[in-house]
Amino acid sequence: MKIDVVSIFPGYFDALELSLLGKARQRGLIDLRVHDLRESAHDKHRTVDDTPTGGGAGMVMKPEPWGAALDAVLTADDAGDDPLVIFPSPAGDVFTQAMARELADESHLVFGCGRYEGIDQRVFDEYASRGRVRLVSIGDYVLNGGEVATIAMIEAIGRLVPGVVGNPESLVEESHEEDGLLEYPSYTKPATWRDRAVPEVLLSGNHAAITQWRQEQRVERTRRVRPELLPWALRGDTRGRHAADD
Ligand code: SAM
Repeated sequence: MKIDVVSIFPGYFDALELSLLGKARQRGLIDLRVHDLRESAHDKHRTVDDTPTGGGAGMVMKPEPWGAALDAVLTADDAGDDPLVIFPSPAGDVFTQAMARELADESHLVFGCGRYEGIDQRVFDEYASRGRVRLVSIGDYVLNGGEVATIAMIEAIGRLVPGVVGNPESLVEESHEEDGLLEYPSYTKPATWRDRAVPEVLLSGNHAAITQWRQEQRVERTRRVRPELLPWALRGDTRGRHAADD
C-alpha cells in the first residue's frame, strides 16, 4: 500500500518508523512518504495560513500551498492508481474498524493534515471534483491538528494490510471485529500476582469451557461499557431487531 501524508509537522510521523509499521515499511509492505506543506508555500515566510474571510477567530489554511502539494503528490502517481484523499476533520465521517478494513483494501491513500481552524473549503471541493475525497473524524473531540488523527488511522489501517501482523488470527479475535463485541480480558503468567489469581477456567485446559467463558466475558463487558454495540439479540430487548435498532 502506498501512503502519502501532507503536513506542516512531518516530524510527527517519525513514530511510524517504530514497531510493526516500521518493520512493514522496511519490508516494502507499506510505502509511506511524508511531505512538508511549507515546501509548497512560495513566499519568503512560507506562509500556509491567513485570516478567515468574513471574520472570526483563528486562522485558515490557504488553498494555494495545498493545491501545489496535492497536485505534486497526485501527478507523481502511478498510472492506473486511483488514490483516495483523506482529510482528517472533526466534521467528517467517524472512523471505525469497519472503515479501517475498507481502507486497507485501497492501493493508495493520501492524507492532508489540517491545522489552525482547518483548510479552505475550496481545497476539498477541488479534489472532490477531480477524484475521491473523504473527510474522516477519529472521534467527537477536537485536536490541534490532523497529524495524530492520521497516525491513528494509518496504524489501524496498516495493521490490516496482509503480512503486516504476523499471525492474522490475532486480528480476527479483537474488539470491534466480526460480531462487533469488545474483547474478553487477557491474562498471562504468573497464575497469581499480588494475591490476584487468574480465573480458574483459564488454567483448566478445557478449551470448550474457556471459549464459553471468554464469550460470556465479551458480552458482559460490551453490555457494561458499550451497550449500543451489542447485537440486538443480546440486548435483552424482546421486541426484535427493528425495535432494538430504532
Ligand atoms: N475548526 C475546526 C472545526 O471546528 O471543525 C477544527 C479545526 S482543528 C483545531 C485543526 C485540525 O485538526 C483539523 O483541520 C483536522 O485536520 C484536525 N482534527 C481535529 N480534531 C479532529 C478529529 N476529531 N478527527 C480528525 N481530525 C481532527
